[in-house]
Amino acid sequence: MWAVAACGTAALVAAAAAGVGTAVLVVLGFPVVACLILTGLILLKTAAAIETLCAALEKPDSAYHFGEGSTLLKPLYTALRRLLEIHREGQHRQRSQDSEMVVRLQLLERQKKDTEAIIYSIRDSVLVTDASDRIIMANAAAERLFGFTLDRDQARRLDEVIRHPDFVRLVGRSIQSRTSHVRQELTFGDPRQPKTYDCIVSCVEDEKNAACGIVAVLHDITREKEISQMKNDFVSHVSHELKTPLASINAYAEMLVDGEAQDAETMQRFCTVIQTQAQRLNRLIEDILNISRIESGLIKVDKETCSVAILAQNAVEMIRSYAMEKSITIKVPAAIIHDQVLADKDMLTQVVINLLSNAVKYTPAGGMVEVDVEVDEVDCCVRLTVGDTGVGIPSDDLPYVFDKFYRVEANKKQAKGTGLGLNLVKQIVETVHGGRVFVTSVPQQGSTFGFTLPLAAERVALNV
Ligand code: ADP
Repeated sequence: MWAVAACGTAALVAAAAAGVGTAVLVVLGFPVVACLILTGLILLKTAAAIETLCAALEKPDSAYHFGEGSTLLKPLYTALRRLLEIHREGQHRQRSQDSEMVVRLQLLERQKKDTEAIIYSIRDSVLVTDASDRIIMANAAAERLFGFTLDRDQARRLDEVIRHPDFVRLVGRSIQSRTSHVRQELTFGDPRQPKTYDCIVSCVEDEKNAACGIVAVLHDITREKEISQMKNDFVSHVSHELKTPLASINAYAEMLVDGEAQDAETMQRFCTVIQTQAQRLNRLIEDILNISRIESGLIKVDKETCSVAILAQNAVEMIRSYAMEKSITIKVPAAIIHDQVLADKDMLTQVVINLLSNAVKYTPAGGMVEVDVEVDEVDCCVRLTVGDTGVGIPSDDLPYVFDKFYRVEANKKQAKGTGLGLNLVKQIVETVHGGRVFVTSVPQQGSTFGFTLPLAAERVALNV
């Protein structure tokens, strides 16, 4: 058709060019016009068909009913419809993959946050690196210990950030050995007051068994080390303290057996030494047992309401003869009202006797010991003090006098002792009764030891 139209048009042009007459033009022009009209009609029909096709394709689920003579449209429609379905299926698949991916990403983000929350809440220092030794995670304890901040140093190499060669070496050892973990005790911080950490470094491996980083956990064991050291010191002190009186008893007993005590007086002297040392041994063992019973919480405590002043008066009577031997005057506290505390009477009596006997022991003959009891209404406690005019304690020794086996060097010649009496006082007052011990002293002028105990609960409750 297009060829006919083209030929017609060409003939028309040719005829016009040749100057042929109007009749010729009419004869030749007719088929051209007809062709053009036909073409226009065909185009209109095609446009209508495309419109119909589009309308049909827009209705996805219903099969469209094409009219008669749509032989060309139907297969085209079917083919396009199939293409559309394939496209829609692809889109649907992509959308579900996208949403699956979003869920996975959210899950990963959640897991990361959970892991971080766990790591950040651990009191131990935790540090995680990747396969290239870069820090990827660390909690606040690790930041403090190693002196870095994750915000600034994340993704930097471990050996650039951490200035602790032993720790860096330990991490290197873990990666090289690939064992489940390596462990070492390391010290950190100020060399004058070092802190000991139990460092466990675990090498993390991927599914191909390649090292993909490490997890280091550092647990502060400074206190445990101190306690273990204190236990060792205690055992060696106890053995030493027990050995001294035992050696004395043994030596004098041997002399007696060998007949070295020729006369009754010498024999009496030897026996007195044995007796004194045996008593000392007994006291020592009693004190050690009492302290360890209190420390382990095994001691039986029988608390009742009692007046501190009356208890102090009774304790003074128990050691009055000892004070009189040294011509030491003891001033007794007057009985006061409302000074009741909830206490184990025997234990509290032991406390006052220990303070009193020390005061007498470390006060030269002719001196004075004064016991005072007062009620502190503001702090709801009773305060007992034992002051003396004795040798006093140098200020350097004062913080340690309540420690086990601590004896003030300057006062050693003054009197014999075990260095356990004041520790027992502290244990009974503070551990068993929830009170506080204290001491003030001026060398060559005297000392004041004392304690405070909470007022008995009934009294505090009544607020009288
Ligand atoms: P000790 O058996 O040696 O007396 P304590 O634990 O009772 O042991 O006392 C510890 C040390 O404190 C004593 O060795 C002594 O040096 C010192 N001390 C205790 N009480 C007094 C005091 N009233 N005056 C001077 N020094 C004292």
